[in-house]
Parts: sequence; C-alpha cells; structure tokens
Amino acid sequence: MDARHEASLRKLLQKLACRASLNRRMELTLESAVTQVKGLGPTRAAVLAERGITTIGHLLSYLPFRYEDRIHFTRIAELVPGQPATVEARVESSSLVRFAGRRHAMFHLRVKDSTGQLHLKFFHSAYLNGKFKAGQALVLHGKVTVDPNRPMRMEMINPEYELLDATGDASDSTEVGRIVPVYEAIGEISSRMLRRYIFFAIQNFRGEIIDPLAADILQRYGFPSRRDAIFSVHFPESDADVAALNEFRSPAQARMIFEEFFLYQLGIALRRQSEQRRAGIPMRVREEKVREAVKKILPFKPTAAQKRVLAEIAADLERATPMSRLLEGDVGSGKTIVALEAAAIAIENGYQTALMAPTEILAVQHYLSARRVFAPARYSVELLVSGMKPSEKAEALERVASGAAQFVTGTHALIEEAVQFAKLGLVIIDEQHRFGVLQRKRLAEKGAAPHTLVMTATPIPRTLALTLYGDLDLSVIDEMPPGRTPVETQWSEEKSLTGVWEFVRREIASGRQAYIIYPVVEESKQELKAATAEYERLAKNVFPRLRVGLLHGRMRSEEKDEIMEEFRAGKIQILVATTVVEVGVDVRNATVMVIEHADRFGLAQLHQLRGRIGRGAHKSHCILVAPQKVTEEARARLETLVATADGFKIAEEDLKLRGPGEFFGTRQHGDVAFQIAHPLRDHKLLDLARGEAFALVENAARAAELEKLKQFLGSEWQNKFRLASVG
Ligand code: ADP
Ligand code: MG
Repeated sequence: MDARHEASLRKLLQKLACRASLNRRMELTLESAVTQVKGLGPTRAAVLAERGITTIGHLLSYLPFRYEDRIHFTRIAELVPGQPATVEARVESSSLVRFAGRRHAMFHLRVKDSTGQLHLKFFHSAYLNGKFKAGQALVLHGKVTVDPNRPMRMEMINPEYELLDATGDASDSTEVGRIVPVYEAIGEISSRMLRRYIFFAIQNFRGEIIDPLAADILQRYGFPSRRDAIFSVHFPESDADVAALNEFRSPAQARMIFEEFFLYQLGIALRRQSEQRRAGIPMRVREEKVREAVKKILPFKPTAAQKRVLAEIAADLERATPMSRLLEGDVGSGKTIVALEAAAIAIENGYQTALMAPTEILAVQHYLSARRVFAPARYSVELLVSGMKPSEKAEALERVASGAAQFVTGTHALIEEAVQFAKLGLVIIDEQHRFGVLQRKRLAEKGAAPHTLVMTATPIPRTLALTLYGDLDLSVIDEMPPGRTPVETQWSEEKSLTGVWEFVRREIASGRQAYIIYPVVEESKQELKAATAEYERLAKNVFPRLRVGLLHGRMRSEEKDEIMEEFRAGKIQILVATTVVEVGVDVRNATVMVIEHADRFGLAQLHQLRGRIGRGAHKSHCILVAPQKVTEEARARLETLVATADGFKIAEEDLKLRGPGEFFGTRQHGDVAFQIAHPLRDHKLLDLARGEAFALVENAARAAELEKLKQFLGSEWQNKFRLASVG
C-alpha cells in the first residue's frame, strides 16, 4: 500500500467514526447531569458544581458576556497590528522552543495563505508539539501583534484555532466561521472549553424548555420563545448584529433580560401584596402629646427635606399595615435625627424602638446622640454590643425584655437569640447595605409586625430604587443641612506627602482635626502601607508634637470607644485609621482627610470615607494619595471623586463601573442576582417588566395564570427571589 492510499483510507475511517458518533447522539434535557457532555469529566464537573452548575439547565443559563465576529476572514497581507482578526491558512512548519532554565516551552507555528506568512506563538504549550502537519488547513482568531525584535513580522500570541478537515468545512466549528460567544472562565475551565460544552449541550438537546412568559407578552414585545432565545444567545445566527449583541440589544438578549426582571418584579409584587394584608401597629401621631414630644427633642431646625420625610414616615406609622420604608439620603444629610423622631412617636405610643448599626463605633455614636437628643423627653436609652461585660449585658437584656429600655441601639448583638423585647414597635436599620436581608428580617421578627425603616447613604437614582426595592416605599432627603462648605478634593502623589503633612500641621494649628486612612491594619505581602506601622512612624517622626491616635477593626471594643471618645473630645488631633470610620462617624471639627493608596478603595467607599469631613462650618479638604499611573478603572474612580461630591452622581458612576451585582452587594447578601440583566443599562426593559408583573399580580382575573407561573418556577424561584427585597 502506498503512503497516499494509506492516508486517504485513514481519512475515510475517521469520517466513518465521526458519523457513528453523530448517530450515538445524547438525548439531553434540562435535568441531565453536566457529565453527559462529551469531554466533561468528574474533575471539571466538580469545578462547575462549585458555581452551582450541575445540570444542562444550569449550563445553558451560564451566558456569554461578549461576542467576537469570526465570520469575516482577513487575508494575511491585510492584517492590521493591534486588531483582532480571523484568518484561514495552512501550516508551513512548527517547532518547540525550550528556554534554558525554564520549565515551560513555547510552541511556534508558521502558517501562510496566498498573500503572506504569519507567525504564531503559544506559551506553555509543549503539548501542541506534533499536532500540526505541514499543509494542514486551519482557521485562526486572535489579536495581531508585531514582533518587537522584527518589526516586519506579524504574529499572534495564543490565538484560538480550529483545524479544518480536508474539505475545508468549518460549519460545525465552535471557534471560527461564526459569531463566537465569550464566557467568563470558571476556575481552570476556559471560555473555550465552556463554549464547546455548551455547543455540545445545544446540539444534543432533546428536552423541553417551558416558557414562563405568556404568549401575549411575547407578541407584544416581539420576543422569541425561551428556547430560541437561549440557543441564540449562546450561538447567534451568523447574520446577527455583533455590535447589538455586545450591547445586549439583540432580540434574544432583550427577551432574557426582560424575563429576569419580570420574575424578579413578580416576587416583589407578591411580597408587597402579602405585606399589605398583614396587620400592623397603628400609632397615634396627631395627638398633641405626641407632636409636643417630637418637637421637644429637636436639637435644630430641620431642613425642608427632613420635614417632608418625617411626615411620610409618620403617615406610615399611623396606618394599620406595617411600614416598610427606605430612607435614602447622602452622607451627612441628617438621617439620624429623622430616625430618632420616628422613635419618639413609637415611644410615645408605648412601644420600644430598636436601631441596628453595622459597626460598634457607629452604634456607640448613636447611643450617645440618642441619650443627648432624648434627654429632655427622659426616654431610657440602651446599648447592646458584643464587646460588653457579661454582667452589664445581662442587665441590659433584662431592661430590654421588661420594656424599661425604650430605645435600644446596637450592632448585630441586637439579633442574638437572647435578646427579647417586651413590645417592639419600630425597627430601624442604619446603613442597610452593610447588612444581609436575613439579619434585617431577624430583627423585625423580634416584634409582632413592627414598622420597619431602613436607611442608606448609597443614593441610587429614584426610579432605579423604586424598581429594585419595589416592595419598599421610598423617602429621599435631597438637601444638606445648612452651614456646610463643600469638601475640596485633590489627587496627590506619594512624592508630595511632605507638603500634605505640612498642610495637616497648619489645619491642626488652627484648631481642626484630621483623619489619615490606610487600606490595611498590618503590613502584608501586598506592599501596602498599613495603619499600625504608619501610625508609629507618623507619631514619632512626622507629627512628634501632635496627639496622634490609632483606630482599626482589630482593636478591643473598649479601646475603640476610648479612642473615638478622645477624638470626639478633641484630645486626639490626628486619627490614623482603617475604613472602620467609613460609616456614620460624625466629628464636625475634623476637616482634613488623607487617604493613602486611594486607588485601592471602591468609589462608594471613598465617598463614604470623605463623608466624615465637611460636616461643620469650616472648609474641609480630602487628599487622595495615589500614583498618576493607575488602572483605568481606578482613574475613573479618583477623577469622579475629584469632580463631584454629589452622592447620586457618584452612585450612578459606581453602578456603571462595577455593574449591579457588586453594587448592590449581591454576592454577599443575595439581594439581587441577575444573570444578564443590568438595571441601569436595561432600565427601559425593567420598567416594562415591572408594569407587566404588577399588572399580573393585581388582576384577580389572571389568578390562574399566576398560579401556573408560581408552580413552574417552583423552588428555584423561591431560592432566587426569596431574598429579593430589603428590610
Ligand atoms: P447621615 O445622614 O449621614 O446619617 P447624620 O444624621 O449623621 O447624617 O447628620 C450629619 C450631621 O448633621 C450631624 O452632626 C447632625 O447633627 C447634623 N444635622 C442634621 N440635620 C441638621 C439640621 N437640620 N440642621 C443642622 N444640623 C443638622
Ligand atoms: Mg448615618
């Protein structure tokens, strides 16, 4: 047998084997295990399982975040450095290059088409050696670069490739000749592997995909069925608009986004409906005695916004259904006093109020200001934090249980089992974004349907808040108390620190105080300056004549209290701290904040930190210390902060930079877990979906439709949306 004959026979055999495997196709359904997918073994299945992906249904719900056009081929002579391109070529030669002393090898491949030659380099890819035969046809996709040592030589580093069979047919390819989906890698499982698995799953899918959207909704918005949408979100038709896909505007994507919002809003609508059927505690608000009490405790003239918001809260407290209200107001807008006024109403009605704060420092601060504010009314104020002495704590618990304590503030310690209230009528959560939904709920469960007020300094645009936290009523304080001077913010480099310290000295000489913030408590491998070490250095070498204090989360509670108290009293002039001061801390005389490694903090976090200054009549300054050369995102954060102090603008920017998942603290708290939907980008679909969901729930005539939907969604729906609301 001559060599040519042998080769063609082998090819024939290969084809036959291929046919046979086609005939042995899997019959996959949504419930099939992922291990049914060709090439997906137990090790990788375990990696996927960690992400909750165990079935084909889960796998198909893992959606691409980007698409690449690999339909339009470019000839080698027409390649442009810096641009991605798809090339059809033949193998010329290959070689494996090992570098002395290095473990990994680089695989070189030289290919050509009728117009030129292209060099490919694959790092860590010894296994490719011998895989490519001269003359073999293949399609490549990657970014074109120029070899720095040989400027005339075009190359691609680690391109995607697909070997073509003798006929040059790539129709079954997942890599090229189509619009290719790009997935976020899961551990060691690359986008490319996921693409193959999902392609296999779709090719072999024989199951049913029920559509939760009613036919008339599909028709109204021109949406494809769920099945069609899922398939084409993964592998779009070759004539699809790639730009639209990358902006998540394709009909299939719009449908998936709408569906997510719709189901989410359905959860909210149902929850709201059942909430409104519960019996709450109607309180007397208009009575002279109550009005007098509320007026008596006011330490200053409230702003118009504070008045309006209190009126909204008071109207809720009067009602026979429990209040669930979100109070939104930028850092320093004066939410606390509103909360205390609401508490006064509850207390005058004979009920206890609980105020939960995310940190001990903040709880203590609330305790102190409640004592001050409530002094004229003689309400008894209690503090519950975990750092208390057991004997003290036992006594406090006793007063809470007997009802002697009328206003109770504290940290998570409030939701411990041992805490029992005699008559809890109002629950207030400060800085709600710091709590999980369950923690918030647990506090409310310590009373019989108490009114709930959650407060946040993360101002989200009103429409967005309404649609996302749609089962909460919303009050917004959109006005700052008078007498504030805006904070001036600048971005400085490390080399100007001497000047910065000089500035701090001057401010302190004129009677002010300063914060200096570090990202970590102790030195670590990250090479970040740490609060403890910098505190020593600053106190000894930089500010030897000033009183410098240190505050961080790892200190004991009493120590923290002491330091905070001394700072409040002006005994400590410079407070070196970590982000423990991020929320709520209110010391008006502090006018300078220096934040080192400012590029390492999130935007919202920086805004919160900066909110600690600019609280009094004196001009305040925030100095962000970071190198000029930072990542693009860090630059965007710092520039936003320098440009504006408007919390709403900052929140919107933050939402854009981080995406809604992180923004709303999804991962930690399970609040909003969208796969593909993005509330800001897709707000129009959000509005439509909300309208449809509420219309369905409110229309008694459509009860059967709703019931069917609930059944279809079953436990999955429960899991996904049980935690969908705040409070
Ligand atoms: P936040 O909304 O960030 O919780 P706070 O409630 O801590 O803000 O209020 C910030 C500061 O403004 C506090 O020192 C508070 O006493 C003061 N403040 C609040 N409302 C007024 C007002 N109407 N007039 C003057 N000062 C006010
Ligand atoms: Mg506050």
